[in-house]
Order: sequence, then structure tokens, then C-alpha cells
Amino acid sequence: MSIDTAKGVLGDATVAELEAALRGTVVRPGDADYDEARSVWNAAHDKHPALIVRCAGTADVVRAVEFARSQDLLVAVRGGAHSIAGFSTCDDGIVIDLSAMKGAVVDPVRRRVVAQAGMTWGDLDHETQAFGLAVTGGLVSSTGISGFTLGGGVGWLLRRHGLASDNVTAAEVVTADGRVVRADPREHPELFWALRGGGGNFGVVTSLEYELHPVGPQVLGGLIFYPAAEARQVITRWREEFDRMPDDLTTLVNLTTAPPLPFLPPEVHGTRVVIVGGMYAGDPAAGEAAVAPLRSLGTPIADVMGPLPYTGMQTLIDPLWTRGAHNYFTSAFIEPSDTAIDAVLRHHLTTPTPRSELHLHQLGGAFARVPAEATAFSQRDSGVLCNVIARSPDTTDFDAHIAWARAARREISRNGHGAMYVNFTGDAAEDKVRASYPEAVHERLVRVKDAYDPTNMFRLNQNIRPSAAA
Ligand code: FAD
Repeated sequence: MSIDTAKGVLGDATVAELEAALRGTVVRPGDADYDEARSVWNAAHDKHPALIVRCAGTADVVRAVEFARSQDLLVAVRGGAHSIAGFSTCDDGIVIDLSAMKGAVVDPVRRRVVAQAGMTWGDLDHETQAFGLAVTGGLVSSTGISGFTLGGGVGWLLRRHGLASDNVTAAEVVTADGRVVRADPREHPELFWALRGGGGNFGVVTSLEYELHPVGPQVLGGLIFYPAAEARQVITRWREEFDRMPDDLTTLVNLTTAPPLPFLPPEVHGTRVVIVGGMYAGDPAAGEAAVAPLRSLGTPIADVMGPLPYTGMQTLIDPLWTRGAHNYFTSAFIEPSDTAIDAVLRHHLTTPTPRSELHLHQLGGAFARVPAEATAFSQRDSGVLCNVIARSPDTTDFDAHIAWARAARREISRNGHGAMYVNFTGDAAEDKVRASYPEAVHERLVRVKDAYDPTNMFRLNQNIRPSAAA
């Protein structure tokens, strides 16, 4: 059976030749596992690729890239499949799926791990915590390490150890011309710079090496719920605590609707609440004093903060973030001024669905001390990252929900430089991408793109357009 692609028809023999050259497998339309293989976390993107190449290792990735080039196929690269904008799938092109590549080697003496690109944070935390070590990972354990890290990587260790990308010490990359290169401070240093914040623009990353840190196994963390009626006071007091908070403590405010959790009084279920989340990365006993102010920002409805395993913290909110819903995220780096708080509170009162919410990620600490020019992620000077999330179980009124999120973002972002976090956006528009990087950083990213992907083979991402395609 031949397969239609955006550029022509792929014959059976051509696909069979590709498959014979792989350790992994090829999934195509009509295969029993095609629907499962083409699905991504965000159900808003229901695409039908011509081929999904499930790579078993770097050699398969080289073959898939060469095949895509020879057949002039649109390329989507997939790690954990959590792209909000749906970049890890496509219609009529090829998906280079790395999700079977889950090997990791931890070196506890050097405190390093080399992790293959298909790992999720659940996978990697599992391996590193066996040695009492960790690196900044995502708040939801099913998120892939690769897309997350290439865009930056915000998590509970951010103020103690910076972004995930700040901890990358080397990467193995298959470039658009099928070469395998190592990017580190000595080899391909400009590529190494660009990979840390510039997203999936420069090639297929097959493994990442991270610096690890002693964390856990027990940490102090959790969530404290306050009524929405106290939201202004809670956020204002939270902001006032910033200067006193140690780097070991990273916090987050979530303006949402209370889910029917067993520890919440039934009358609170379905009402708007403000949740203060936090994790203290050091000794849990020492953390009690640090988190004490979080317990008295208002009158808590429920306080579920206490000692727990680090892996427990990393999976705490997993049940709320399962696959299959329709999602749109948009974001802004801001200062938590009174006008920003006003805007956030107003849009909380009009969230279009119970699972739509606004997150305020506290920044600062180690994250802010990384020099702006050290990596392509260059938004180091804002106090807070606001993520506006529209999430609904199906397509009903989804466009209106997106409009709510965009309106909220428009107003809230006036309290910052206009920059977005590329990992927290469902938009691919070029002006949004440009606004995410200072001009000089964007120009440097274009130079790296010109050197490694001059024809824009890797364009399903927050795209840095090469000069030749400008
Ligand atoms: P994928 O969809 O597989 O990849 C996304 C894109 O990244 C791809 O289209 C490609 O352009 C690029 N890419 C992925 N892998 C590679 C590779 N190996 N080589 C080259 N390019 C690649 N972000 C945070 O910072 N902190 C959070 O706590 C957080 N929580 C999240 C929770 C949920 C439920 C979701 C859906 C997202 C969350 N995010 C978070 C955003 C997340 O960082 C991005 O969605 C990220 O792109 C996910 O990476 P992935 O590998 O799972 O995604």
C-alpha cells in the first residue's frame, strides 16, 4: 500500500527499505497501532502523519533524518509528546519518535547522568533518585525531558539549581545533514548555547548529559488551599515573602477551581480557590521554618504540605494532568505588581472551565544568577512567570476558551517585557517567538540555525527561521 505525503506518494518498497535499515519500527496508516502511535498528550491536535518512525537508538534517528531529507518530508520530532502547540505530530509527514529511547547512565561520583531523549521526568527521577540525586524536572512526571529541557525547564528545584537547561553539560545531536555531533562547551559551543533555551530548532537531540545534585529522598512540599475571596491578600503576602525565601524553597500560586479531592470539604468542591504550592529542596526539618509563612497567607481551607519523597512531589499533581483533554497555554514573564495581581484576579473569576487556571511561578534564586548570555534562555530578570491555561474535556467552545486565555495574557503581560516562555505556549506565530528572545539573542539563534539547519528541516517548533528562508 502506498502512502500519500504532502509532497507525493511513498511506495511500499521505499518504506520497507527504511524499516529494514532500522532496529526500531515504522508505523503507518492502517497499522493496528497507528491511532495509538499518532496520538499526543494534547487532544486538540488530531493529526495523521504518513509515517511514525519509532527509533531504538541514534542510528535509527540518523536513518530517519536521511529518509525525511531524501523524500522531502515534513518532520515532527517527538520526545514525551507534551507539546502544547502540537509540534510533535503532523499531517502527511514523518514523526521521528524517540519515546522508546529510555536508557540512562548515572555516574554518582561525578554527579552526572547521560539520559536518552525519550525519557520522561518520571523515568529520569526514578533512575537518579536511586543515587539520592536529581536535576530540575517538570511538575508532571509524564512530561518528556527533551522538549522540556530544550525550551528551558521550570520545576520545583528552579530556585535551588536553575532550569533543567542550566544543568545540561553536553548533548548528542543528529543534525539536518545526518551527522552525529556532540555539543558541549568545547565542541560545537554555539550549538551547545542554542540548545539550552532555543528549543528543537537545531537537530534531533538523542541524549542529554545533566549535572546532578543531592536531593531527598525526603523533601518538604505540598499544597495549601485558600478561598478565592482571600486571593488578593494571599498573592500580595506571597509576593512580600520573596526577599525572605531561601533558594531551597521554590513556590507557585495556582488560581483554579477546587477539584473533588477527598481532603477538601465537599462544599469547597467546584468553587474557585487559590493554591500555594511549594517545595523545600534541603533537609525537611530545616524547611519547616521556611514554609511557615506560606501557611498563614490567609485562612487555609486545607494544608497538605509536609515531608514526602521527592518522587512523590514530582508526581503529586499527575492525576489532574492526564492525556486526552483539549489544552491551550499562553504565558508571560512579569513583575507581580498590584496591576498584574488585579488582572490575574479578574481573569480567575471568568475561567471558562473548572480546569482552566492561572499559574504564577516564582522565579529568582539560582535561576536569576545564570548570566543572560550563558544560554539561549535569556529571561532571567522577571520575578514571576505567569502561565494561563485553557483546558476542557472536548472541543465544545474551545475557541472561546482560547480567546479567554489570550485576553488574560494580553492584559497580564503589560506588567513585563512581553516575553513568553516557549514551552508554555500553544502558539506558533513568529512574532510570539521573536518576542520570547531579546533581539541580539534571536540574531545569534538565527546564525546557529543557518549553520546547522539552513533549509529549516526542523520547523515544527517555536521556529527560528534561517536567513535563507527569511
Ligand atoms: P514533545 O511534544 O515530544 O516535544 C515538543 C517539541 O520539542 C518537539 O515538537 C520538538 O520541537 C522538540 N523536541 C522534543 N524532543 C526533541 C529532541 N529529542 N530533539 C529535538 N527536538 C525535540 N514545562 C516546564 O517548564 N515546567 C513544567 O512543570 C511543565 N509542566 C508541564 C505539564 C504538562 C501536563 C504539559 C503538557 C507540559 C508541561 N510543560 C512544562 C511544558 C513542556 O516543557 C513542553 O510541553 C515541552 O515541549 C514538552 O516536552 P516533550 O518532550 O514532552 O514534548
